[in-house]
Amino acid sequence: AGSVVFDNVTKTYGHGAVTAIDNVSFTINPGELVTLLGPSGCGKTTTLRMIAGLEHATTGKILIGGKDVTQLPATDRDVSMVFQSYALFPHMTVAENVAYGLSATGVAKAEAREKAEEGLNLVGLGGYGSRLPSELSGGQQQRVAVARALVLEPEVLLLDEPLSNLDAKLRRHVRTEIRDLQQKLGLTAVYVTHDQEEALAVSDRIIVMNRAVIAQQGTPRELYEQPQSEFIADFIGDANLVDGEIVNIDGNHARVDIGGAQCNLRHRGQAKGPVRVAVRPDAVQLTGLAAIAGDAHVIETSLKGHITHAAYLGSQMQYSVATPIGELFVIDHRIDTPIIAGEEVAIGFSERGMAVVSAE
Ligand code: ADP
Ligand code: MG
Repeated sequence: AGSVVFDNVTKTYGHGAVTAIDNVSFTINPGELVTLLGPSGCGKTTTLRMIAGLEHATTGKILIGGKDVTQLPATDRDVSMVFQSYALFPHMTVAENVAYGLSATGVAKAEAREKAEEGLNLVGLGGYGSRLPSELSGGQQQRVAVARALVLEPEVLLLDEPLSNLDAKLRRHVRTEIRDLQQKLGLTAVYVTHDQEEALAVSDRIIVMNRAVIAQQGTPRELYEQPQSEFIADFIGDANLVDGEIVNIDGNHARVDIGGAQCNLRHRGQAKGPVRVAVRPDAVQLTGLAAIAGDAHVIETSLKGHITHAAYLGSQMQYSVATPIGELFVIDHRIDTPIIAGEEVAIGFSERGMAVVSAE
């Protein structure tokens, strides 16, 4: 498996009219699955096509396995790509489609057939080898395309939104299979999706892109727990974005006041003063004031609000809370003692699930 390096790569279309990738640098290590995640039009497909050699960088350098491939045509690069559209040969059987790339590279027929069957088993299509693509559903056809790319065991496997045609349940199943296989074969894989949950589930690392540049990169946990901007906090999971103020700094912790409620946050070098804070829905702690009337001294916070909506979702309660710092979306896993709409609540914040972010 090879590494992939982008060194200050820019790609423009239409003689500079559109900048699809703006001076982007990153390194993908051998055997890693890295996801390019971001909203539609941010440059994910362009990045993938440049790795494949289907587009060429306007400026900058691209290395695969340490070798400069910037000027190398697609056919001379040891990569294989799974497209959004499956692009299967309609007249060939499913097994022939999967074996095609292997035969083309000189693998003996019997071995190619065996590997094709193995590939089909891996994507849950064992026994479908003799059918024609038209006899499969769209989702099954895409799994054939995944199998076809996987059996080539390329230096780098590229997948462009490979699951977008599958229904939600199958999507979870197939993404797990892709991840298992990538790990088993030790493949370097670059996976494109706009679905943040999918990215969190399959990736060693995620490169989040926005408007032709990298917004932030890191492990799924780093991105979720330490978002650096409002964009990342909002794009990876749910977040309430509120105004706060750093009132004290002690080592690597900062004491932050949010509307009168104080909490400790991991401190990343911000000075005292006003900050934006991303608050995960389950980092908000609500205490119904009706339930503890007469015992109000247990409430330390001066931030109060009232429940505008309460919804029971089986494993969690979801609340909307009107507060002086704005509407908060809250998830509470204590479902046995729900708070009812209209009730006044005291609001506190846990340390976990809070991050100081830069304003957009
Ligand atoms: P994503 O895959 O993240 O949705 P793309 O890489 O497809 O984004 O596109 C990035 C930007 O480049 C978009 O603004 C898109 O319209 C533009 N673009 C992509 N391909 C072309 C092309 N062949 N010609 C002109 N503009 C293009
Ligand atoms: Mg795309």
